Amino acid sequence: MAQLIQSIRGMNDLLPEVLTYWHALESVIQKIMMNYGYEEIRLPIMESTELFSRTIGEVTDVVEKEMYTFLDRNGDSLSLRPEATAGCVRACLEHGLLHNATQRLWYSGPMFRYERPQKGRYRQFYQIGAEALGFETPDIDAEIIMMTAQFWEALGLTDQIELQLNSLGSVAVRRNYREQLVQYFKSHQSALDEDSKRRLGLNPLRILDSKNPEMQGLIANAPSILDYLDEASSKHFNTLRQYLDAAGLNYKINPRLVRGLDYYTDTAFEWVTEQLGAQGTVCGGGRYNGLVEQLGGQATPAIGFAMGLERIVELYKAKQASVQSKADVYLITDGERARYEGFLLSQKLRKALPDLQLIMHCGSGGFKSQFKKADKCGARFALILGEDEIAQHKVSVKFLREEKEQLSVTFEELVNVLK
Ligand code: ATP
Ligand code: MG
Repeated sequence: MAQLIQSIRGMNDLLPEVLTYWHALESVIQKIMMNYGYEEIRLPIMESTELFSRTIGEVTDVVEKEMYTFLDRNGDSLSLRPEATAGCVRACLEHGLLHNATQRLWYSGPMFRYERPQKGRYRQFYQIGAEALGFETPDIDAEIIMMTAQFWEALGLTDQIELQLNSLGSVAVRRNYREQLVQYFKSHQSALDEDSKRRLGLNPLRILDSKNPEMQGLIANAPSILDYLDEASSKHFNTLRQYLDAAGLNYKINPRLVRGLDYYTDTAFEWVTEQLGAQGTVCGGGRYNGLVEQLGGQATPAIGFAMGLERIVELYKAKQASVQSKADVYLITDGERARYEGFLLSQKLRKALPDLQLIMHCGSGGFKSQFKKADKCGARFALILGEDEIAQHKVSVKFLREEKEQLSVTFEELVNVLK
């Protein structure tokens, strides 16, 4: 026998059984985003490598060690997208979507990061995200955050996910804060791990994002960026808090929250759960007022978020009762002639009742095994077609979920029963 070929580590097949949860979840989230006036955008999964190195930042986990980068046949450096914000902004600029216009956009799809695979962390994973471009005032920050809060509400996850909020200030604020932070970490140099020592010279804020447990004490005592906000950043942050308070949303201020990518300014937030162990961030977002300009556009304020679907599905699945039904009707046939008549019957039914979920039993099989399959797929009715039924131009209907007598009906009667 030929040797089996395996999937790539960290890149998962999503099988039908789990996808029923994905579908339910995706449709809830997409509906809410559309209700808020966000429109879908679909972006390529590959972009020029430069798009990511220029925006996400050279000294970030993502660009330093997590990107799938390769030369195509033309010798151009391409990368599988590790996230979609940069691609979304590129597309907006390329198609002139920001000329005297604001945009509310959402996307979903696979992202790729070369990480160590573990529960909740994969090399191909799925995100749904949204971006609001051209909006400056904190009302949009509040809208975006409240929209994510509504996802959890609609999915029944509110009591499991907590909002953490921070402000990263303007570029000038960060420059000043950065100096204070460098001083602080320099005075504790011996306690720094290798990664942090390297980052100290290049991008000290990233030390705050360290996942190393041994660094957490040192990080907890570092200066807080909130003490360094200037008037504009401070006002933006306080106004946002006012909006969220007025909407009755609970949150925790976390001054160490810096987020994984370099392009954020002012508002930064994460939704975090304790149910998933170390991979507890299910959604992260923030403002990125400098990004559009960085990509060659006119200065344009913007804010967005992205959520990891595997992690949310994991929470959602735990809340759901077992399998949902896959079909309304399972069609059982006995013999070759019945198989043929059954095929025609199913076509007639699909035409008469376009919404009907009908599974036709294909191939041979005894009644018993066919009924087993009918039961397993969750169907409400089994339709039975054998020699007798064909001779009488009728179909037998068995109620699989109710205590009701089996019926023998004509096609017209059947349509009425199934309606
Ligand atoms: P983490 O701190 O867990 O590495 P991150 O800060 O790198 O996350 P973001 O870039 O903010 O993540 O992406 C937004 C969301 O996408 C995360 O909150 C998470 O839910 C999800 N996510 C990120 N990386 C992965 C991954 N490798 N596998 C599965 N989900 C992921
Ligand atoms: Mg990460």
